Amino acid sequence: QPSVGVFALQGDVREHVRVLADLGVPAFTVRRPEELARCDALVLPGGESTTMYKLARTFDLFEPLAERIRGGMPTFGTCAGMIMLADRITGGIDGQETLGGLDITVRRNAFGRQVDSFEGDIEFDGLADPVHAVFIRAPWVEDAGEKVEVLATITSGEAAGRIVAVRQDNLMATSFHPEVGGDDRIHRYFVELVKQS
Ligand code: GLN
Repeated sequence: QPSVGVFALQGDVREHVRVLADLGVPAFTVRRPEELARCDALVLPGGESTTMYKLARTFDLFEPLAERIRGGMPTFGTCAGMIMLADRITGGIDGQETLGGLDITVRRNAFGRQVDSFEGDIEFDGLADPVHAVFIRAPWVEDAGEKVEVLATITSGEAAGRIVAVRQDNLMATSFHPEVGGDDRIHRYFVELVKQS
């Protein structure tokens, strides 16, 4: 099995570890550069991207992470993790840095206050049945470069047409939280990507 780490300085780490363990992929937590060095692949969980980048800086994980991602390490970001993987953000705080890698612009907290958090069924590329997606103060992808493959968009309501899942080479990201809600198909998708790379 590949050695999959979950960035663990902040965010819903345990949920990702559990889904991966249930898939037979024992994942371990990553807080230090030595742990990152053991990873074949990495998950960046949901949480708070502003806190994530600051802690990554404080714990000297920011540069090593950005370097591994540039080097092609398969990486999966959910929600705040998607923000961390974006090359560009809008609605960030002053000085907010991202690791980058995905040629996308994400808008933080894009769905607005009134619909802060919501759930819905969405079509996901390559999956036969819709995915039940949980959005919590989620970003959306405002624009995506040519090399970015769109995996899912919102299909109804005010946010119709907004991109909420993408892939570019070894990187993938979702605005929503597949680690909560009991559907392991998105993690399977990532594990397949990891095995193929
Ligand atoms: N709003 C958070 C951020 O900007 C992301 C929320 C989440 O990960 N559930 O980082």
